[in-house]
Amino acid sequence: MSAPFDHVAIVGLGLLGSSLTHAIKAHLPETRVTAFDASPEVRKRAGELGLGEVRDDPAETVRGADLVILCVPVGAMGEAARAIAPGLSPSAIVSDVGSSKEGVSRALREALSGQTVIPAHPVAGTERSGPDAGFATLFHNRWCILTPAAGADPSHVARLTAFWQALGANVETMDAAHHDLVLAITSHLPHLIAYTIVGTASDLEAVTRSEVIKYSAGGFRDFTRIAASDPTMWRDVFLSNKDAVLEMLQRFTEDLTALQRAIRWGDGDALFDLFTKTRAIRRSIIAEGQDDARPDFGRADHGEQR
Ligand code: NAP
Repeated sequence: MSAPFDHVAIVGLGLLGSSLTHAIKAHLPETRVTAFDASPEVRKRAGELGLGEVRDDPAETVRGADLVILCVPVGAMGEAARAIAPGLSPSAIVSDVGSSKEGVSRALREALSGQTVIPAHPVAGTERSGPDAGFATLFHNRWCILTPAAGADPSHVARLTAFWQALGANVETMDAAHHDLVLAITSHLPHLIAYTIVGTASDLEAVTRSEVIKYSAGGFRDFTRIAASDPTMWRDVFLSNKDAVLEMLQRFTEDLTALQRAIRWGDGDALFDLFTKTRAIRRSIIAEGQDDARPDFGRADHGEQR
């Protein structure tokens, strides 16, 4: 079967962009890859790492490409789209990997009116960033959510679906607003909670803080991994998915208050029932192959992959 695209241009060479270039090389070796990043240091490093044919100009990078994927922070999508516009072929499909979709879709369509735009979000990542962080298997058995506009051409959606499947991903299509609501609870709120817990611990007086680090395996350690995620990326995600995050945060606060009440009144049954329910969710995630049952979440193996 021939590759879904002949020439893919990647704009932004951090974790996602560099992983895409590695994955295309591994799974679609006949596909040409050109690449750009706004940072000259990142471009230099990308050249050393062999992340596609690295160009110094965004419009030149996308010239002749039949698929362009923007892999920049959500808040930079509009600017990146305007910079590539002069070089785009009229038949090229423009997509992205942004973690929020309604705001990004609007920014891309405003910057590229008349161009085929199919936003996407591979639900795959790590807390690392930069061109050295990428690896070819990042998308294996992970979901990639496409959020085409209502009137999108099904053949364009099918081509982009085939591309992500070739990289090992499972593909789902949904409305951008629904995506933002789902991701607010599965990804954005957990990051907000992790940033809060780690922030609270770091505000404790020094002597206690050293104990927080020493005894971190008690649960705190897993939050610190999430709270180490890229500050620019996450600032942009919360600003762009504001409404859905605030709605989920409201519900979370109410549930937290109920839990606080159960602890205060010694309502062990309420605590036990909730913890039993949450355990079942963890088991379903493992059963669906979305995480590892080992106590270290398979960290040792994942480290070897990178
Ligand atoms: P990253 O490692 O920080 O890389 C982003 C790169 O884009 C940086 O090298 C940055 O350069 C560059 N850049 C910024 N503005 C640009 C512009 N206008 N034109 C060209 N390059 C530009 O970030 P990432 O983790 O790969 O995230 C990229 C996108 O993927 C984000 O939209 C994020 O929401 C999404 N995403 C991330 C994850 C994850 O786990 N990390 C998962 C799924 C989706 P500077 O450093 O010089 O600004």
